[in-house]
Amino acid sequence: MTQQLHAPTADEVEAFRETILAKLTYSIGKDPEHASDHDWFEAVALATRDRMIDQWMDRTRESYRQGKKRVYYLSLEFLIGRLLIDSLSNLGLLETARQALAGINVDFERIRLTEPDAALGNGGLGRLAACFMESMATLGIAAHGYGIRYDHGLFRQAIVDGWQHEQTETWLNFGNPWEFERPEVSYLIGFGGSVMALPAEGPGKEPRHFWHWSEGVRAIAYDTPIVGWRGASVNTLRLWRARAEADFHLERFNAGDHVGAVSEGARAESISRVLYPADSTEAGQELRLRQEYFFVAASLQDLLRRHMDQRGTLLNLPEFASIQLNDTHPAIAVAELMRLLVDVNGIAWNKAWELTVATMSYTNHTLLPEALETWSVGLMERLLPRHMQIIYLINAHHLDALRERGIHNLELLRSVSLIEESNGRRVRMGNLAFLGSHSINGVSALHTGLMRETVFTDLHSLFPNRISNKTNGITFRRWLYQSNPQLTALLVEHLGEELLDDPENMLRQLEPYAEQAQFRARFAAQRLENKQLLARIIQEQLGIEVDPSALFDVHVKRIHEYKRQLLNLLHTVALYQAIRSDPGGNWVPRVKIFAGKAAASYHTAKMIIKLTNDIARTINDDPTVRGLLKVVFLPNYNVSLAERIIPAADLSEQISTAGLEASGTSNMKFALNGALTIGTLDGANVEMSEQIGLEHMFIFGLTAQEVEARKQAGEYNAEATIFGSSRLNEALLSIRDGAFSADDPARYTALIDGLKWQDTFMVCADFEAYWHAQLEVEARWRDPNNWWRSAVLNTARTGWFSSDRTIREYAEDIWKVL
Ligand SMILES: *Cc1c(COP(=O)(O)O)cnc(C)c1O
Repeated sequence: MTQQLHAPTADEVEAFRETILAKLTYSIGKDPEHASDHDWFEAVALATRDRMIDQWMDRTRESYRQGKKRVYYLSLEFLIGRLLIDSLSNLGLLETARQALAGINVDFERIRLTEPDAALGNGGLGRLAACFMESMATLGIAAHGYGIRYDHGLFRQAIVDGWQHEQTETWLNFGNPWEFERPEVSYLIGFGGSVMALPAEGPGKEPRHFWHWSEGVRAIAYDTPIVGWRGASVNTLRLWRARAEADFHLERFNAGDHVGAVSEGARAESISRVLYPADSTEAGQELRLRQEYFFVAASLQDLLRRHMDQRGTLLNLPEFASIQLNDTHPAIAVAELMRLLVDVNGIAWNKAWELTVATMSYTNHTLLPEALETWSVGLMERLLPRHMQIIYLINAHHLDALRERGIHNLELLRSVSLIEESNGRRVRMGNLAFLGSHSINGVSALHTGLMRETVFTDLHSLFPNRISNKTNGITFRRWLYQSNPQLTALLVEHLGEELLDDPENMLRQLEPYAEQAQFRARFAAQRLENKQLLARIIQEQLGIEVDPSALFDVHVKRIHEYKRQLLNLLHTVALYQAIRSDPGGNWVPRVKIFAGKAAASYHTAKMIIKLTNDIARTINDDPTVRGLLKVVFLPNYNVSLAERIIPAADLSEQISTAGLEASGTSNMKFALNGALTIGTLDGANVEMSEQIGLEHMFIFGLTAQEVEARKQAGEYNAEATIFGSSRLNEALLSIRDGAFSADDPARYTALIDGLKWQDTFMVCADFEAYWHAQLEVEARWRDPNNWWRSAVLNTARTGWFSSDRTIREYAEDIWKVL
């Protein structure tokens, strides 16, 4: 890895080695003779953390002194992954650490792999939050991330006999060397109880409300420093852990209610026990609402305390604080901030509302109706009675204001109300987040446009200036420098070290090299190295041998019907059948690589995993295929596995049903690393095609408008489509008839019939277009000059997708901090 500007001096290496040894001895209590790999990892992590701390304190003091405006990023998920390489690399200590350990015969590569993967998130949304934290530190924005310190992050996926099994994830089993427990930073969070109103104290005054909650849960802060590129600045990720309130609990215990006291504690602490393993679906569980309120309430109290310490008044809150809501999960913050301002601090309602709206902003991540959170009024009244009143009052003011504007259309008023009346009364968290924010953003141009036209069309018509677009990005430090040191070295060799500081602009200078045969050969050679590394992982984990010179065709992401792993599987089966019917044909050798987790309760997604494994076994064992086609499903997709797979990909599958993927971010990671994309015009693929050029991607299929038109017309008939494609028909029939599931021939009947009768996700509709796009892929692959020319141009033209660019846009347009 070449990220360090200057080779470390012998003194620097020696000094770091001494710190590591001191940590091993005095913090971990091991002598080097008996230290395990994990002990060494912790010692290195602690030594690294020490280096961050000075900077951390300096920067924090500095930002206090300058009175900088602060950004608070509220997110129920942070999909961080490992931090060792990230921190060392950003501090410029990677080579120092390597040499320090080499000098005492400790294998750095081995010990770094013992770090658990912090998976406090499900997928793209949580990973975005992690990339944003790193970019904010890099850009020197004073920011705090706020979330929950789950005891158990996203489940570990084991594949047993082809089926997904969820195993408890235990990232904290050996402690977490990155974090600082802050027992002195804690807040008591209330639930339940009742509200008492005192009459107004005089004319023109408002009545005061007191919430007497019946259950208190303590939130305790755990801080993780997040360091920016070249140690530019260090921000804090503050995660809350729930603890039973000791006194409360002891009283009951002493009174003889031992079981009650303990179960009370267990109930309180369950709040930070597990990350909801639900992806894009409403959990619909009381515990989920408790989690949301718990972390929002602790975070808001914390940031208001910080603000009061510095400013002594809340009336200027929006000048010094911006609160970004990552999806609707923290949307209860709108009501909680109103409660804190009005009930606790005695600020008049209208003023409090003005302050709230000026402070809050909200990012929408999905248009899927089942993913837009709503909570039943009954549950809200029971768990958060004062918040329910506040929501009613916000709604009343909102609807009154509209009537004053002369808007009496009942349909419209119903649709923009905070309360849904149609199937039981429910609070719409999306509308609450929208109303309580001065800025609402989508995450790609297409998604933002659809937001304006669909979910928020009526609110948008009333508040036409609130919605803007902020296309997602990824941090290049992790997704290029750290995950692909081979490619990074090649880029630095040709473009100079400046590339590392300004990839957004410098990458473009790679374009002329796309025309040089020699450079293309080097580019292809580094890819081959990465593919060899991945082939070894596949061999070790699955016992399957794959040829590193074959086309690596990669589809890794959460398993979801809209992401259309099924479409890829149908292509796989059709290709398999084609090879079988002409085994001597001139086929392009391919390895189809899949990975991804299915939500535990998502039956169809789990069937898709089983089908992938059934297809893989059948094809990999078939001698007539002669290894021309291999299929692998790598278990337990997470950030660390993504870092290994993405740099080894030739082809990136981004084939969601158009209109349903809000942005995607793995599409950007692959393109940055030089993979060519086969994809639909969905999410950020659209902007990628504008940056990279359509001729260097394989774009196919229905557009979002065409999908919508088919649904509206109601005349789309999957059966007729299937009838028109013998390839598709045969692939479907063979799966349905048990060709891949001889042990249970009817296993896929329902799955395949679902496609025939419903095809909600347009799998059949897009099949032929996909098949032909895959033929173009093969034609390009047979023409290496053109393939690698396109690959180089993909890397050269992906600079715009840096999360630094995204964060700069948030900072300038929404937070006003740059
Ligand atoms: C980037 C990333 C995602 C998001 O992938 P999409 O294909 O954009 O949905 C999900 N999980 C992990 C581990 C990632 O690194």
